Amino acid sequence: MHPLIFIKSYYIICSDIFHATTPFGKGKRMKRRKHKNLPRLLMLILTALLLCGCGKADKTTDNDIGIENSETMQKDPAKNNSADYTPDDPIDDTQPAQTGPEPSEEPDPTQPETAENPENIAVTEIIATNSVNIRTAPSMDADVYQVAERRTFLNKVNESDGWTKILIDNAYYYVKSDYVKDKPLPGESTGYLIAIDAGHQSRGNSETEPIGPGASERKAKVASGTSGSVSGLAEYELTLQVSLKLRDELEARGYEVLMIRESNDVNISNAERAEVANQAGADAFIRVHANGSENSGTNGAMTICQTSGNPYNASLYSQSKRLSSLVLDHLTAAAGCNKQYVWETDTMTGINWCQTPVTIVEMGYMTNPTEDANMATAEYQYKIATGIADGIDAYFEAE
Ligand SMILES: [Zn+2]
Repeated sequence: MHPLIFIKSYYIICSDIFHATTPFGKGKRMKRRKHKNLPRLLMLILTALLLCGCGKADKTTDNDIGIENSETMQKDPAKNNSADYTPDDPIDDTQPAQTGPEPSEEPDPTQPETAENPENIAVTEIIATNSVNIRTAPSMDADVYQVAERRTFLNKVNESDGWTKILIDNAYYYVKSDYVKDKPLPGESTGYLIAIDAGHQSRGNSETEPIGPGASERKAKVASGTSGSVSGLAEYELTLQVSLKLRDELEARGYEVLMIRESNDVNISNAERAEVANQAGADAFIRVHANGSENSGTNGAMTICQTSGNPYNASLYSQSKRLSSLVLDHLTAAAGCNKQYVWETDTMTGINWCQTPVTIVEMGYMTNPTEDANMATAEYQYKIATGIADGIDAYFEAE
């Protein structure tokens, strides 16, 4: 329990007790006023004592981890939606000043232990499951050497008393074991969250929205999409069929999956779809679409990402480009279709609003009779889903 909550509960309990037992309860009004400060004074003293006591007692328990968490929150609030976290938690920050009667000396900055013959030290690869401080010694008082961002790979030497000893640059450092785990083996959970957006919906929405954060240019919230020249499928139906297969494939490979929609009867704008992926802290956002052309002979797959000069999220360009390239390579290999190219454009609302690496997969042309007929079959849809998943695997393997 959080010390403040405890104190608050205690205060309430105490108030009840005092009220129930106070001899002044039935007394005259003036008399009550005169004496009612006594229990309050006692409570204040008790509260002050508790505050000191709690601060000390919790120093080696959950609240230590909270310090790591609160640092994490400041670095990357989008990735940390933990319900446990109280942003206005004042205890951790004030703790060092309150804990001791002798607040005199902060612990001296410590140097890490040097590793001798580091090439002979057996290490296992681990992965940070959250942003975590890398410290020079296994103590919350030790210096923070640097912060390992979520998904950082580290070399573990051993583990003891809740601290994992790691090897970096010929020296030993320590991270809280709660924030790392062994690198997953094939078939195990990867820990990556993939957001999948099946493009379009049963009815387009011609209301407009800004094409990016702060943009004056606006586009329809959701276009109605293309449709199959021979299959008769609407694009929104095909994209959902493939997206559901992609979901199953990714989950089987150990990914967490967030589906923006799982039915056709929704009304979610392109910006809103990106926001859902952003809020979830997705590690990649896959937008599944099918293409259309006035030329029925045009066929093949392409993927789409932002340009390196995108005014809204250019910092995600290189990741999105790599994701787009890998997905395109693997999709076309798995499906055996024509490979077009990665189209870089800043005209896509659902890309511009993204704060996560993103690709639009135009898996084929519904205006091409052969490709349309292929895409309408479950067999071909599995190939596409497998190819996209292969591309996602490749993207994270090389990360
Ligand atoms: Zn589309």
